[in-house]
Amino acid sequence: MSVVNSHTEAVEPNLIDYDALLSTFSWNEAYKDFDGLPNGGGLNIAHEAIDRHAAGLLKDHVAIRWIRKDRAAKDFTYHDLYELSNRFANVISRLGVGKGDTVFTLTGRIPELYVTAFGTLKRTAIFCPLFSVFGPQPIYERLSRGEAKILVTTLDLFTKKIKPVIERLPALQYVLITDTESHADKKVLSLPLLMAKESSTFTIPPTQKEDPALLHFTSGTTGMPKGALHVHGAVLTHMITGKLVLDFHPDDIYWCTADPGWVTGTSYGIIAPLVNGVTNIVDEAEFDAARWYSILQDHKINIWYTAPTAIRRLMRMNIDPAKQYNLEHLRLILSVGEPLHADAVHWGEDTFGVPILDNWWQTETGGIMISNYRNMPVRPGSMGKPLPGIEAAIAEISADSLSIITEPEKSGQLVLKRGWPSMFKTYLHEEERYQKCFRGEWYVTGDLARRDKEGYYWFVGRADDIIKTSGHMVGPFEVESTLMEHPAVAEAAVIGKPEPTIGEMVKAFVVLKPGNAPGEQLEMDIIAHGRKKLGPAVAPKEIDFVDSLPKTRSGKILRRLLKARELGLQEGDLSTLEQP
Ligand code: ATP
Ligand code: MG
Repeated sequence: MSVVNSHTEAVEPNLIDYDALLSTFSWNEAYKDFDGLPNGGGLNIAHEAIDRHAAGLLKDHVAIRWIRKDRAAKDFTYHDLYELSNRFANVISRLGVGKGDTVFTLTGRIPELYVTAFGTLKRTAIFCPLFSVFGPQPIYERLSRGEAKILVTTLDLFTKKIKPVIERLPALQYVLITDTESHADKKVLSLPLLMAKESSTFTIPPTQKEDPALLHFTSGTTGMPKGALHVHGAVLTHMITGKLVLDFHPDDIYWCTADPGWVTGTSYGIIAPLVNGVTNIVDEAEFDAARWYSILQDHKINIWYTAPTAIRRLMRMNIDPAKQYNLEHLRLILSVGEPLHADAVHWGEDTFGVPILDNWWQTETGGIMISNYRNMPVRPGSMGKPLPGIEAAIAEISADSLSIITEPEKSGQLVLKRGWPSMFKTYLHEEERYQKCFRGEWYVTGDLARRDKEGYYWFVGRADDIIKTSGHMVGPFEVESTLMEHPAVAEAAVIGKPEPTIGEMVKAFVVLKPGNAPGEQLEMDIIAHGRKKLGPAVAPKEIDFVDSLPKTRSGKILRRLLKARELGLQEGDLSTLEQP
């Protein structure tokens, strides 16, 4: 049964007619909605997200509401952020940071992270946030590859993770500590002390759309994380997707649960909400179901952007949010990062009375590319349709050519026509690898998908994860989705295990729902369910019951690790592996 959510009907969606907008949308026209720097100074993300609001009607509007671990909330208005980011821009200018230098953060979700982001962008330097849970080696690798000039961090993280590697980082000139009141030495300085001395005004230098702005490392799901470089012009994608997908309206309260150490946490946890002038909730703490539901309730959140892993965890909990919490303000839930299985979409509808809208994008694309929209019927399990302004297609590719598959329902590489504003500009120090992602005007995503007759896109799997069995190409998503329909299965991951007669055998790793015990009978039962639904060629032939699946810290199942362990091969780069 569906819960009625009165708030949903009261707010008209921004995107009313998808097909009409698809045919008329132009990025050049959309650029006109930007303010631009004074005197024709160009386009700077921080100006569009902060300064123009601080100079206008939103001056005293809450830009960021920061919820501390102890649950106390602190508000920062657009004007507060304007002044703080100006001070930070002055701090780094005085320390010699110039255009194109890199400023890293290694902090939890604390206000200094957000101030650093905008202050860095104002200085036309490049902002790169790192996830604070990384160990010293992955941190060292990223700081070193990104040639960090400044690092903003806390005393605790500095002591535990930076001190052991600082001698090996010759480019790193200053470390700014957020929670000390005095400078340690010439290199390790107190950020509050520096901020207090600086002026709260700063003039943003001229900034071009193509000037580098953000560096993001990928999740490392398929191998060593790549550094994707983005430019100031990317803010156009953030603004447009904020309007069309996240459906921002004035006075909305919005929460993106991703950490800024992953691209979602920056594009949609920092930039998109502020460019659109809404209130952005930042929770300092990690996942906790009861805390999350309380935040949704107490802060009257309207729009909530999260990920399938979190949704699956909530589904497994013994909590009925509709009964135990007042979530009447919730208008929209969105999900990204991994396939959102149909059962999760149904659960969302039944539990919250609002749809969970799946969308697809990558670190490389900088923003949402394919999505479900509030005013478009959801096909549970589908990623939706391309954003107006994005041309997507299914293609067959070879080393140097590409042919578009026009027929519906055929699987192939998901490709995007190059030229959208938030397209990455290179892989850091890997220009050749970057060039290999393109075939003429098409960007090859590395994901396989199919398009149905009505133009909805369906995820098939990562090209690296595809299983070749008895002449079939099997996408893990389809098999995993089917396994998850079995009442005992909470999570599933499948791999191809080499088998001489059929090429590869489909093997599944399954996490059971509480109350189910692993055993031969259950294995047979799940295999039978798979055979009935998928046919014998595609269904798994072997199942291992496991307590948990290996995942990246951004919540993606590491099938390559399951496979390496199964076959006794080298485990490869594990810098982003979540420790159980
Ligand atoms: P790496 O490139 O280092 O292997 P990664 O691809 O996981 O890591 P991200 O850029 O964080 O790094 O993730 C993007 C990928 O996540 C997509 O290419 C796709 O495989 C997957 N993904 C994102 N959203 C969805 C979705 N809605 N449905 C299915 N898959 C998704
Ligand atoms: Mg990738």
